[in-house]
Amino acid sequence: MARITIVGAGITGMAIASLLSRNHEVTIVAKNLPGDELSREWASPWAGAVFLGLDGSKPNEQKMQLDSFAVLWSLAVSNPESSIKRIEMNDFHDDKTIDQIWYNGKLPEFRILKDSELPKGVKLGMSYKTVVMTPKIFLPWLRNRLESSGVRFKRINLSSLAEVKSQGHDIVVNATGFGPKFLEDIQDQDVQLVRGQTVHVKSNFNKIFMRHGRDYTYAISRLDGTCILGGIKQYEQTEPEVDMELQQDVNLSNCK
Ligand SMILES: Cc1cc2nc3c(=O)[nH]c(=O)nc-3n(C[C@H](O)[C@H](O)[C@H](O)COP(=O)(O)OP(=O)(O)OC[C@H]3O[C@@H](n4cnc5c(N)ncnc54)[C@H](O)[C@@H]3O)c2cc1C
Repeated sequence: MARITIVGAGITGMAIASLLSRNHEVTIVAKNLPGDELSREWASPWAGAVFLGLDGSKPNEQKMQLDSFAVLWSLAVSNPESSIKRIEMNDFHDDKTIDQIWYNGKLPEFRILKDSELPKGVKLGMSYKTVVMTPKIFLPWLRNRLESSGVRFKRINLSSLAEVKSQGHDIVVNATGFGPKFLEDIQDQDVQLVRGQTVHVKSNFNKIFMRHGRDYTYAISRLDGTCILGGIKQYEQTEPEVDMELQQDVNLSNCK
């Protein structure tokens, strides 16, 4: 049995803890913890959050994604209180062909849409089942589940990763999201910041619409009478305040 300190209490840190917790003594330390008031200092509370196969994944990354999907798919039935639900995805691409899609045929009820089912300008459309969750419910749920299996959570704000030495451990896992760019003893300039902005609306829309290409656009139903509208991806921007012009664009232009 090893003493493992995981730095970061977002979805990455907690997913790692859930794989390790039965065999090791695991402590999660982080500045922001599940259950906190909403803060723009970390990403996990803001995610859509839906499973989507990531473009350009290598075979080992594809396997990791499909393994994760299998866990989420069964949690949707075994633990509905986690907020995870199964849902239909309509996945559209302006500039891709089916041979460029690594998850072709690998997700439940996968079907290539007919030309007559595609929005104007779209080259490829696929329909399949995926999972959606509500981070505000899922993150505290996973924290409780980990705490009942012995994982400890501690709030610590680190300037450098070396500062966790005082916790006493055999292994440290760095799961700080964009933290490595700023931790004094890492300063990894290859970490790329991407700013997202979404709008949360009341809606009875009960699927996921995702369009990649010229206009990145999505509508993610959470199957709770609300829907997340989005499609903003701004590279290397860190401005945390809401951009009202972008909000209008998401509401009116992209998701009409
Ligand atoms: C608008 C939006 C929509 C998204 N939608 C989706 C989606 O639908 N599906 C999907 O898969 N992904 C989605 N994502 C991406 C997803 O949210 C992130 O990939 C994921 O949340 C990253 O989790 P993480 O645990 O790695 O990092 P984070 O959630 O950022 O957590 C980082 C953790 O490290 C801690 N930390 C950082 N620095 C320090 C420090 N110096 N000292 C102590 N602790 C520190 C933080 O406090 C926090 O606990 C979306 C993101 C955004 C912004």
